[in-house]
Amino acid sequence: MKTFKEILENRHAYAKSWKAKTGRKVLGFYDTYFPEEVAYAAGLMPVRILAEHEADDVTDRLMYGNCYCTRDMLNQFARGRYDYIDGLVSIESCQWWYNAFDTTLIMFPDLFSHYLFTPDYLDARTSKDVMRSELSVFAERLEEWLGTKITDEKLDDAINVYNKNRALLRRIYELRRFDTPVILGSETMEIMLANQVMDKAEANVMLESLLSDIEKREPYQDCVRLMLLGSETYDVSLERLVESLGANVVVDELDNGTGCIANDVIPLKDRLMAIGLRYLGKPHSALKDSIWRRRQERIFQLYEDWQADGVIIAKQIYCHPHGTDMYAVWKLLRERNIPYITFERDTTLPQEETRLAVEGLISQIEPGRTRIAGWSRSGAKTG
Ligand code: SF4
Repeated sequence: MKTFKEILENRHAYAKSWKAKTGRKVLGFYDTYFPEEVAYAAGLMPVRILAEHEADDVTDRLMYGNCYCTRDMLNQFARGRYDYIDGLVSIESCQWWYNAFDTTLIMFPDLFSHYLFTPDYLDARTSKDVMRSELSVFAERLEEWLGTKITDEKLDDAINVYNKNRALLRRIYELRRFDTPVILGSETMEIMLANQVMDKAEANVMLESLLSDIEKREPYQDCVRLMLLGSETYDVSLERLVESLGANVVVDELDNGTGCIANDVIPLKDRLMAIGLRYLGKPHSALKDSIWRRRQERIFQLYEDWQADGVIIAKQIYCHPHGTDMYAVWKLLRERNIPYITFERDTTLPQEETRLAVEGLISQIEPGRTRIAGWSRSGAKTG
């Protein structure tokens, strides 16, 4: 547990030491639709660019009106935090990510860069071939850049490593379904975030050992169980605040939570098609759920399977994918009498305001309203 936390906190040092150890390159990406397996098969370590909060005197004139996470991503490049990144990829996704990508390349034109089109209408008949062709172009660009060949054997190895990684993370989420879970929401999100900046083969070894340790842990007490929705998250301050109030985030429907571990690559002779199908078939993000909406039912299923008592929707200010999707989520929650709160944040968490809102949500949740019994307001198990 401690190792994941340390890697997350020292992620730049981790990547630099990985480069020194392996002599290989690091590729930055933004969105969880990025097909990491292809980059991994080329010998790269894909690293997700994560936002944090740092004083910013750069982005106001370059990215005014963007969400604060993407502004901070540019800010961190400008400050030299990502000086070990060799290349950057953006996919067809949120326009603010694209703006961060584009503006970073203006500042650092020598980076390898690629724009990968992932269809916006994931379920269209032509999307499979479009995705397959985009992956093939991407693979060729990597081969040319690195002077290597992405063979079927390398793709198989990458697919196995990534499938195993997702399966191990799903086991951690399964442990959170217990009435008395052995792992907290903040601990899980720390693992999820660290995993996104690590070599997945190494992460798998650490996850296996962690799973065997946490399954032996004394469980935490049964308490109010909350679900987290909204824009992707980059720290665990919200989960910790919830825990300080005697509740626990037991499940999420976030792009960098359940959204990135739900499905695997099913092996096929055409490896690139298999990888493409996995990304087209993963749970729709808010941005790509625009035709036949699927997210609402998925949210409800997760809510029921993890026996949540209420929902927190935390949206980033200026996040248009989640802003435009919100009405449909609210409709579902209202129709099914699910207690919820919605608030906006940036790369910081307004502690006192959020504390009041979460306290208000917890006070709405009474035994019998959502789950018949099993917890008390004090957090003690009632049997
Ligand atoms: S928080 Fe929203 S607007 Fe910002 S990058 Fe993520 S999806 Fe895009």
